[in-house]
Amino acid sequence: MNILGVRELDAVVIGAGQAGLSAAYHLRRAGLEPDRDFVVLDHAPGPGGAWQFRWPSLTYGRVHGMHALPGMELTGADPDRPSSEVIAGYFAAYEERFGLRVHRPVEVRAVREGSGGRLLVETSEGGYGPRALINATGTWARPFWPRYPGQETFRGRQLHTVRYPGPEEFAGRRVIVVGGGASGTQHLMEIADHAAATFWVTRREPVFREGPFTEEWGRAAVALVERRVRDGLPPRSVVSVTGLPVTDAVRRARERGVLDRLPMFDRITPTGAVWDDGRTVEADVILWATGFRPAVEHLAPLRLREPGGGIRVEDTRAVRDGRVHLVGYGPSASTIGANRAGRTAVRSVTGLLAGTGGRPGADEVAAPASV
Ligand SMILES: Cc1cc2nc3c(=O)[nH]c(=O)nc-3n(C[C@H](O)[C@H](O)[C@H](O)COP(=O)(O)OP(=O)(O)OC[C@H]3O[C@@H](n4cnc5c(N)ncnc54)[C@H](O)[C@@H]3O)c2cc1C
Repeated sequence: MNILGVRELDAVVIGAGQAGLSAAYHLRRAGLEPDRDFVVLDHAPGPGGAWQFRWPSLTYGRVHGMHALPGMELTGADPDRPSSEVIAGYFAAYEERFGLRVHRPVEVRAVREGSGGRLLVETSEGGYGPRALINATGTWARPFWPRYPGQETFRGRQLHTVRYPGPEEFAGRRVIVVGGGASGTQHLMEIADHAAATFWVTRREPVFREGPFTEEWGRAAVALVERRVRDGLPPRSVVSVTGLPVTDAVRRARERGVLDRLPMFDRITPTGAVWDDGRTVEADVILWATGFRPAVEHLAPLRLREPGGGIRVEDTRAVRDGRVHLVGYGPSASTIGANRAGRTAVRSVTGLLAGTGGRPGADEVAAPASV
């Protein structure tokens, strides 16, 4: 603790989702001790990262390609249980097993320049002064909700994916779902079985991807997002470049007309939406499945943003400040990407702490016996 009451340590990890827990695991493997050398801070009430907030009808069996955290498999989970419960339970066991001691609920309000070359992390439980920061705050805390003329006049219900309660509440309603991503299609396919009518509205023509999702294709898609991030542009979701996979459920929904898409409406009225070509749709609900943006506002005092609006990141390191690493950001915004990014960030952080500039190999320090 310094004279200003700031706790000085080697590293702070913000966020205990897949990316933050992977980073914490690798920090331990590199010989850093939780609460002595680093802390993990999270503003959510419990374990599970953003998964703990996902809607009950997103069962574990419906999640595609969830990768286990490093060092501990997720086995025997009931596919019919909500993924929010399954993954929260798994993360809780993981934190316990590796003694990661996540501090929660702790809100990180801002990260700014500290003293003596350290950063200052301002939180709801006081200040931390780390030499390195691993930011793993995901996107869930920052839903993207576009504005359209007349939106405030709508007399029905408007909600974002972040508050989606499952399909039953829409029984007998006329529902407009806005957004061409995976969440939008999943909401539609569920709601169509309950609602009086559904309408799908997207800005761009959705791209459906037939055929198997090969590793090669996945790599190419990740490389596209990676390039945007390296160029300092805001990252796009990996799904936005892979297209929508055509599963059996998607095929059935397309045959039933549930995924017939309308272009973006021009205005919202008190009772629905209208298009300039004279089309109108009467609706009780507008569900905005319009995605999320990286939750990085707390990093604003560090001025990491490029003129293109994004933070330039190489591997996981912010180009404008080598002490800051972003994991689960852009190309690593998937469970497998988050795993790898945690390891890469720790390799760089341990290099920085050892004064070697983060060259590969720095994490090849003997792991403590408990990890
Ligand atoms: C609906 C949905 C389905 C998905 N399905 C899949 C899938 O099937 N397979 C797959 O690989 N990926 C999937 N993904 C993506 C995947 O969930 C994430 O990319 C991955 O889990 C990495 O998470 P994360 O750790 O980056 O973020 P999160 O899980 O969002 O964790 C971020 C953590 O940071 C904390 N936090 C945020 N801001 C602050 C702050 N200011 N102060 C303190 N704490 C803070 C949050 O409380 C949270 O716990 C899906 C995403 C969504 C939205």
